[in-house]
Amino acid sequence: MYPRTFFHIFLLILMSSVPSPLLMARDVDNEAILSKQSTDISYDIKQPQNDCEADDDENEDNGVKSGICKKHIITAGALAIAATAAGVVYSQQEDQKKQQESFYEQKRKYKEPEAKDTAETVKKPIIVYDSGYDISFFGIENWLHSFDGTKYSKVFKYLEEKKVVEQDRDVYKPSMVTDQELGEIHTPEYLESLRYSKNIAKVVEIPQLAWIPNWLLQKKLLQPVKLATGGTILAAQLAMKHKTLAINLSGGYHHAKREKGEGFCFFADIPLAIQSVRKTYGADKKVLVVDFDAHQGNGVSTILKKDEKTFIIDMYGKNVYPNVHHQLGDHQAIAGNKQFHGIPIPQYTVDQEYLRLVEENLPRVIDRFKPALMIYNAGTDILVGDPVEKQSVTADGIIKRDERVITLARERKIPMVMVLSGGYTRESAAVIGRSISNIFDRWSQGTVIARDS
Ligand SMILES: [Zn+2]
Repeated sequence: MYPRTFFHIFLLILMSSVPSPLLMARDVDNEAILSKQSTDISYDIKQPQNDCEADDDENEDNGVKSGICKKHIITAGALAIAATAAGVVYSQQEDQKKQQESFYEQKRKYKEPEAKDTAETVKKPIIVYDSGYDISFFGIENWLHSFDGTKYSKVFKYLEEKKVVEQDRDVYKPSMVTDQELGEIHTPEYLESLRYSKNIAKVVEIPQLAWIPNWLLQKKLLQPVKLATGGTILAAQLAMKHKTLAINLSGGYHHAKREKGEGFCFFADIPLAIQSVRKTYGADKKVLVVDFDAHQGNGVSTILKKDEKTFIIDMYGKNVYPNVHHQLGDHQAIAGNKQFHGIPIPQYTVDQEYLRLVEENLPRVIDRFKPALMIYNAGTDILVGDPVEKQSVTADGIIKRDERVITLARERKIPMVMVLSGGYTRESAAVIGRSISNIFDRWSQGTVIARDS
């Protein structure tokens, strides 16, 4: 996943809002002011590192240390209004979430792997989803054509409309991954760095984000990602527990590394899920990562490069980000690594060739490695027409790919997690919805062989 078009969203935000003196304020005054704006921002009162030191020096020369940047004071008021509006919108969203709470409450027990198993036999694949997955900036993103930050809810609504999922039976709601869990993979320095907007800006490669208040980025960007990361962990636990397929309708942040995020990936949900499964089911559990997103999963391969209980099969565009064969650190993680099987493909690969490569490689990798769990990173950015990746696989090709991967796992009775990863065109949600719908149809028909059969 690597949605450069996120840049346009934030440009629009910047056009409609500018830094506020209230939010630029620092030290004790800052905490007091911010605490009046929201009851839920105490953790993120640290602001972007001082970009206005020159102004501070001037202030101190005058014997006054106001903590407010002169350079931006003229334009600062608008963001205070925007921040207040954001708070109102959030309050409304929180109220809506509380109304849904009762429905989901009974599902929360499943997030705990040690919970008593009162579930009936799982007859269908499991869906993990939360309405909080969407990354939305007050509807601004709807003005855009090439990025869809609400694809998660659109996929879910598609599945509801097609009656693929029955909420009271198939939907499991995750909780956000905790800082403690994140600390098991990521360095403390990296996690701490995300308290500064300028570092979040680096992950998504949008320098202008450094001017957005950190609390707003936490709410609108990092919290949905933390929720989705929790979703991948939950899906892995459920897949193992019920020996079935669990689909998290988000996740797949395969560019996130231990010490840094990149390519719009903040947290390494796949390694975190593997870690979680091994804690519950044993450190010897072998996991196969099947990464068919259009980009090489350099984060996953870097983190897991010395993990002999993990194998990665990765089919990716060889001339697009992260240009793994030209990045020394990333290349070292895969070059000569016996736990990695890479299949670089050229641009404009079509269905027939793509599916041939799947068939030629995946079955023998599975049969040789014999994993206890498969994690399928099912990016849809190989879709023809995707403006960045320039692959030529059709929607039907993606549906056949997904069906084949899942059939291979089910034939062998291997639990599987599926995550959505990249693919943010306006067509992506419908393609994903159709594919998951097809998986459920095949599952019920037995075309995809049942684990109990
Ligand atoms: Zn991608």
